[in-house]
Amino acid sequence: MDLAEYKGIYVIAEQFEGKLRNVSFELLGQARVLADTIGDEVGAILIGKDVKPLAQELIAHGAHKVYVYDDPKLENYNTTAYAKVICDFFHEEKPNVFLVGATNIGRDLGPRIANSLQTGLTADCTGLAVDDDGKTIVWTRPALGGNIMAEIICPDNRPQMGTVRPNVFKKPEADPNAKGEVIEKTANLSDADFMTKFVELIKMGGEGIKIEEADVIVSGGRGMNGPEPFTGMLKDLADVLGGAVGASRAAVDAGWIDALHQVGQTGKTVGPKIYIACGISGAIQHLAGMSGSDCVIAINKDEDAPIFKVCDYGIVGDAFKIVPLLTAAIKKI
Ligand code: FAD
Repeated sequence: MDLAEYKGIYVIAEQFEGKLRNVSFELLGQARVLADTIGDEVGAILIGKDVKPLAQELIAHGAHKVYVYDDPKLENYNTTAYAKVICDFFHEEKPNVFLVGATNIGRDLGPRIANSLQTGLTADCTGLAVDDDGKTIVWTRPALGGNIMAEIICPDNRPQMGTVRPNVFKKPEADPNAKGEVIEKTANLSDADFMTKFVELIKMGGEGIKIEEADVIVSGGRGMNGPEPFTGMLKDLADVLGGAVGASRAAVDAGWIDALHQVGQTGKTVGPKIYIACGISGAIQHLAGMSGSDCVIAINKDEDAPIFKVCDYGIVGDAFKIVPLLTAAIKKI
């Protein structure tokens, strides 16, 4: 393989019901940083039905080029069909790097593409940089239960690829005047490329703001002692702040709240403006998911809890007393 033939850092953009996911913008921002170092350009691949109007948004967030596969057959995500489209794209355009969001779809699609193209994939990355050689991507991800950070490279194959957690990188400011190229492509698909059939979309997690997208998260841990606070006092505080309820794995494992709310290494990575941790000790695996928060407020009755080492504001006390007081005080503002 002549590596010099492979050019461009490509974000596999993800959209749902006509709205681009924030992680696609975050990846475009970081792709620009990598591309500036390597001396390369940034592209995006956009797949779906009636998605062409979204191309300009990708350009506004950093893409020089957007390749659009707009096809009624691609309306609903389909692992094998989407993977075929992207593998065909690889053979035609010879990209150097694929960046994929570590979302449910990205975690399904990324390995399928990597396997088909016989290249490596670093899953669930929390860091992306350029190696000292000025051209190889260094993918960083937690390993051994979050106790070390592994740095992984793919020196001999192309594309270099990985899935990257949402909220690891800041979403860049949109530049409405940004200019880029929109290239319409045709998906070459037969019925055999759709190995599964879309039957019905059942939305999980109910109404309300998702923790990945929330500006404020009020999270509860084992200290909440049961499910009631998650639908009661924590939700009340989240509601007055226009936020969402999160949880530690201990709370999720106890069955007090759905796993969709779990923050941490095996849960979601979040990046709110304010993260309020109630009855959460601050284990390294929890911190892995929320350390990108702008401001962390911890409420814990143990003054030695590790969460106090990483918070901006700490309140030593019983969350069952403090949280309702906070809610009442904020309501008065
Ligand atoms: P605890 O550590 O038991 O802490 C409870 C805290 O509540 C204590 O500090 C206590 O002082 C306080 N408290 C009790 N009562 C009150 C009260 N009334 N008011 C105020 N404070 C009170 N964990 C995650 O969260 N997310 C993950 O994604 C995750 N992934 C993991 C992956 C691996 C491979 C492993 C090994 C572990 C993972 N964990 C994860 C688990 C993690 O190690 C911790 O066990 C977990 O985060 C602890 O949850 P906690 O802080 O709620 O509970």
